[in-house]
Amino acid sequence: MSSVDSRNYYYASTPVAAPYAPLRGEVRADVCVIGGGISGLSAALHLRERGYKVVLLEAEHLGFGGSGRSGGQSIFGYACEMSTLEKAVGGADARRMWDVACEGLELQRQLISRHRIDCSYVPGHMVVGMKERHDDALRDEVRHLADKYDYHSLRFIEREELRTLVASDRYTSALYDSNGGHLHPYRFTRGLGAAAAAAGVAIHEDSWVTKLDVAKGAGDDNVIHTAQGSVRARHLLVAGGALLGRLVPELARKLIAIGTYIVATQPLGEERARALIRNNAAVADMNWILDYFRVLDDTRLLFGGRVSYSGIDPLDSSRVLRKRIARVFPQLDDARIEYSWGGYLDITTNRAPHFGRLGPNAYFIQGLSGHGMVISGIAGKLVSEAIAGTAERFDMYSRIKHVNFPGGPWLRRPALVLAMLWFRLLDLL
Ligand SMILES: Cc1cc2nc3c(=O)[nH]c(=O)nc-3n(C[C@H](O)[C@H](O)[C@H](O)COP(=O)(O)OP(=O)(O)OC[C@H]3O[C@@H](n4cnc5c(N)ncnc54)[C@H](O)[C@@H]3O)c2cc1C
Repeated sequence: MSSVDSRNYYYASTPVAAPYAPLRGEVRADVCVIGGGISGLSAALHLRERGYKVVLLEAEHLGFGGSGRSGGQSIFGYACEMSTLEKAVGGADARRMWDVACEGLELQRQLISRHRIDCSYVPGHMVVGMKERHDDALRDEVRHLADKYDYHSLRFIEREELRTLVASDRYTSALYDSNGGHLHPYRFTRGLGAAAAAAGVAIHEDSWVTKLDVAKGAGDDNVIHTAQGSVRARHLLVAGGALLGRLVPELARKLIAIGTYIVATQPLGEERARALIRNNAAVADMNWILDYFRVLDDTRLLFGGRVSYSGIDPLDSSRVLRKRIARVFPQLDDARIEYSWGGYLDITTNRAPHFGRLGPNAYFIQGLSGHGMVISGIAGKLVSEAIAGTAERFDMYSRIKHVNFPGGPWLRRPALVLAMLWFRLLDLL
């Protein structure tokens, strides 16, 4: 299904319970959810808690998509700037969207504690700058988000102090968020799955949805087909992220799936690992094609970066990321890379989230654009509210206008190559 390598995949060393059985035969439900990532699982869990009969279909296994293979960074806001949302929906609704994103950070922590999910959550996130322009932008961001959005957990960090926190000469300033953090994304996703199953959601793995009959009328059922069965459900949520492919062509046209890559080093030992990031925050730089990293609880450095528009040999990816690590932490030149994997991001043209409806009772969540560890959870909760009859928060996102990705299906890759060159150029400048 995916050409991005997932064989040498650190998180998958996590032991998991027995697989959930594939869907067989015809079943009925109130709600059918497509996608066993955080979006789908959060929606399923919240709907079940409201008393709905829910069936969730996952093509591979829970956490197979971005949710289970991400950098694990829990970051405030959206992938796009707030100014993009202000232009799209006006100041008042942009403010409500900001509040939803903040609620998402809180929800993530609540889900972890309420369902006792063992996913090594660590508070603290830093965005680091590398040049004067970045320093000014970060300083402004702290002020802007405090004044306009009442967000007060950010602190600007000057170069000298940053040097005591991150053992690298590369960075000139940082924005520290005590409200952000990082976690083991695969264990979080699987934990959410276990909570949903315990609450009574019928989960089916290895159940690739091949065809949808979306209901036209509010009183009709949606019918969802897999190779071996079907689900007839009044409500439907499509939450297939970057891996949905062309199942719903009108959704596919709004996205481009970009490959992105991560490596994990050998265990570095407590002292050496902790010396890299003294406050143990997750770190992401300000480039378009950014480096992001954190120290894992087994003292490895997890380091992500580079993107591509096609599948990439994991060995090549590992070689490139080793060079990027050396630029940040030259002191790690003897550290072995033990894991290297990738995944796809579901990017929209404006990087704003793409939520909406395919029919009166058929919802979709997509386009989290590489910034979905937090938004996916709250987006699932918004769908549960909408299905239960309070759709205002979900529906405000459908007012964000999304254009088709330029070039149509066949010209997209060349268009993306050009876009990538442009982003690289921006980073160099
Ligand atoms: C390498 C990588 C690093 C990332 N790092 C970060 C980070 O540090 N911080 C951050 O905020 N975000 C990060 N992201 C983005 C984040 O992981 C995603 O935005 C988020 O997990 C999306 O969740 P989701 O549930 O919407 O989709 P997914 O997690 O992709 O789940 C969708 C699921 O749907 C299934 N599916 C698709 N089609 C079908 C079908 N036809 N039938 C049945 N099932 C189907 C897929 O198999 C998949 O399991 C990263 C992503 C990647 C790939």
